[in-house]
Amino acid sequence: MVDLQSQYERIKDSVDQSIQEVLNTSTYINGPLVHEFQKDLENYLEVKHVIPCANGTDALQIAMMGLGLQPGDEVITADFTFAATVEVIALLQLTPVLVDVDPNTFNIDINAIKSAITPKTKAIIPVHLFGQVANMDAILEIANKHNLYVIEDNAQAIGANYTFKNGKKQKAGTIGNVGTTSFFPSKNLGCYGDGGAIFTNDDELAHTIRGIVNHGMYTRYYHDVVGVNSRLDSIQAGVLKAKLPNLNEYCNSRRNAARFYNNAFKNNPNIITPTAKSNHTNSCNEICEFCDCHVFHQYTLQITNGKRDELHKHLLDKKIPNAIYYPVALHKQKAYADERYNEADFPVTNELVKTVISLPMHTELDEEQLNFITETVNNFLN
Ligand SMILES: *Cc1c(COP(=O)(O)O)cnc(C)c1O
Repeated sequence: MVDLQSQYERIKDSVDQSIQEVLNTSTYINGPLVHEFQKDLENYLEVKHVIPCANGTDALQIAMMGLGLQPGDEVITADFTFAATVEVIALLQLTPVLVDVDPNTFNIDINAIKSAITPKTKAIIPVHLFGQVANMDAILEIANKHNLYVIEDNAQAIGANYTFKNGKKQKAGTIGNVGTTSFFPSKNLGCYGDGGAIFTNDDELAHTIRGIVNHGMYTRYYHDVVGVNSRLDSIQAGVLKAKLPNLNEYCNSRRNAARFYNNAFKNNPNIITPTAKSNHTNSCNEICEFCDCHVFHQYTLQITNGKRDELHKHLLDKKIPNAIYYPVALHKQKAYADERYNEADFPVTNELVKTVISLPMHTELDEEQLNFITETVNNFLN
């Protein structure tokens, strides 16, 4: 699904130099490169605070701890996402409230959020799924009206821009009270191990979180709150510092591949191609130069003739990587099923789990590969 080897070959010199710097100075934990990468990412995202941590799952957990959410508080999030989001809600003994998603963007459905709000609701976690920013105008409006926190799970959309109704642009992950990301190797900005980060413009929250990631310490060996141990190590920070200058180019390569795919599939009646919804009034199938709201962490089709599983097998036979993200709705997972949920409330996720398929998507796809993939899919689904 990704080609990290070819990507590394292109940036080998700067990555190797960064790693060598860590080895030469033996500054494996909290070394200067961690701080340098943190500053670089703050500049790139135009956000006041980046707090690096060990992975994207920790980032979500720490964000919720930082906001002071308490057992029994309800947190609304999307039913169609990677399990990490709901997992940490449950781990903190908060109450996850899973809701349906939008059939075009696969992102959390605005009306479903509204219907799920109760007096116990404390936060909304939109997940910018597959690289596309959720409808933040509407989410902020709901949050303001009901006094809720917004935590953006930006593990899949780093580098994406959101254009507000008033035309203002802001980087995904910096819009809510707090945003989180993952630097897992296959993410859009990936390191060569595990890594993550938390973003916020709130000085007080940033201070709280800096203590939480470090055993709840604000003064060495004085533990004011219960914390965790969650660090980005210096070697990973070095890799990320070397890769960050390429992130915009990486986003463009992904969008170019998406544009090629969309064009190749546009006349196939059995395929719904992804759209980019730039400001939630206009949606674009062409994936044009203005579609910076979508950074295509995944390129995901909906197969409408019931042959999704056959296509999956056929592509594997032809040695074309492909994957089903996600095959089971979260509200039906054994760990998160709950009698409070009503099947009639999940028409979209219940359909998507049967129709979606993701094709190879990365920064190194060339025209020959894209032609082979699209011809194979079109020939099979004619
Ligand atoms: C990858 C991912 C995470 C978790 O990140 P890790 O670094 O693997 O812990 C969380 N949320 C979403 C939506 C993800 O895609």
